[in-house]
Amino acid sequence: MPGLFLQPIRRRDFFKTSFLGGAALVLHGCRTSPGASSWTGNEIHLALLSDTHVAGDREHGKDPRGFDPWENLNRVVPDLIARSPRGVILNGDAASREGLPADYQELKALLEPLSRVAPVYIGFGNHDDRKNFEEVFASAAGLEQEC
Ligand SMILES: [Zn+2]
Repeated sequence: MPGLFLQPIRRRDFFKTSFLGGAALVLHGCRTSPGASSWTGNEIHLALLSDTHVAGDREHGKDPRGFDPWENLNRVVPDLIARSPRGVILNGDAASREGLPADYQELKALLEPLSRVAPVYIGFGNHDDRKNFEEVFASAAGLEQEC
């Protein structure tokens, strides 16, 4: 069931899992005979976001070169919703520079429409702060579930 489901995972764990998943796909591909379709009807469509670097203060979050992380995420969310992913993975550096509570408030507001159509999983990067994240996302379903 779609909903706000944020499961913080460490970036290292994500890469380890992704690598194993990639290895499994490669292995599966090696077993497929040439010309045969490997489609099983069980495909899953996921959206991958990374380094959103959303800042609580939009002006503070803008890069002098014109890079606007808040606007970028705001612009991509409707596109993702239109594509109906089964899940969304935000692979770290969700917040701007130090992971302030205000950064996560903005991030939560930006992701809220997306979380209504697919679970959103957030991994931590070196710009994120677990304590501040958990304060803001305290009511997210994933924070209270065992892996
Ligand atoms: Zn980054």
